Amino acid sequence: MKVLILGGTAEARQLAAALSQSRSIEFVSSLAGRVRDPALPVGPKRIGGFGGIEGLVRYLRTEGVDAVVDATHPFAEVMTQHAERACVRLGLPLRVLRRPGWTGDWHRVASIADVPDRITALVPDGGCVFLTTGRGDLAVFAGDAKHRYLVRMVDPPEEALPAKSELVLDRGPYTVAGERELMRTHQVALLVTKDSGGELTSAKLTAAGQLGVPVLMVSRPPLPAGVASMDTVDAVLAWLAELAGAASSGG
Ligand code: NAP
Repeated sequence: MKVLILGGTAEARQLAAALSQSRSIEFVSSLAGRVRDPALPVGPKRIGGFGGIEGLVRYLRTEGVDAVVDATHPFAEVMTQHAERACVRLGLPLRVLRRPGWTGDWHRVASIADVPDRITALVPDGGCVFLTTGRGDLAVFAGDAKHRYLVRMVDPPEEALPAKSELVLDRGPYTVAGERELMRTHQVALLVTKDSGGELTSAKLTAAGQLGVPVLMVSRPPLPAGVASMDTVDAVLAWLAELAGAASSGG
């Protein structure tokens, strides 16, 4: 049985590492190729977009893929939609592997487009906004010349930064003490983040709580209707083992 892992997350790399030990399951990991120096999964991989739904359908057919695990980031909404469409078209089994979201007493918005209005409501002019939403989402802040922005991301942005910005290039992992220091130094008045979940980037939330800095959390986009998701690598491995067992017994 051959599995396509749509990757770009720590969970996708953990899944690849586990499957590299399997004798009955072949796999290939796929990365979008956006990050300059990505953490690479072990085992076979391909890098770059497929060319939309049609390209993905072609790839799945040509490579003889039997099942797909979408282990992309919870905000990689387009890839998840494409995976769902392509798998329905080809009748392939699909599971989304998605770490649980963060829970806490925060301000929430449904999408990044709603963030600027909330910043205006929550932060006085001249106040500092700590933006950790990634480089694909900067455009919505470009017109805000009233607030100061502390912008942190992995690679330099392609889009323009807001007028008063300080850029920090860092990929973590982060410590609570380090995050506290950063927020204190810049007198951060609001932390803006997407509900990525996981422990790799959660130190900022603990630090904000300790400093009394409010948090504005962008909620995850919903999964396409009918798509089943699992929140641990072990659950996905069990599902794949069941599929492989059924395939080998001709079921
Ligand atoms: P996206 O908006 O959902 O996808 C845009 C396009 O990028 C897709 O249509 C596809 O191109 C290509 N793509 C995305 N993931 C791919 C993958 N694993 N393998 C091959 N092609 C892929 O995705 P995104 O939000 O830009 O995220 C891109 C990658 O970065 C994902 O792998 C994701 O896991 C990772 N990531 C995203 C975030 C985030 O906040 N969005 C954070 C951390 C990591 P085609 O249409 O040409 O196939």
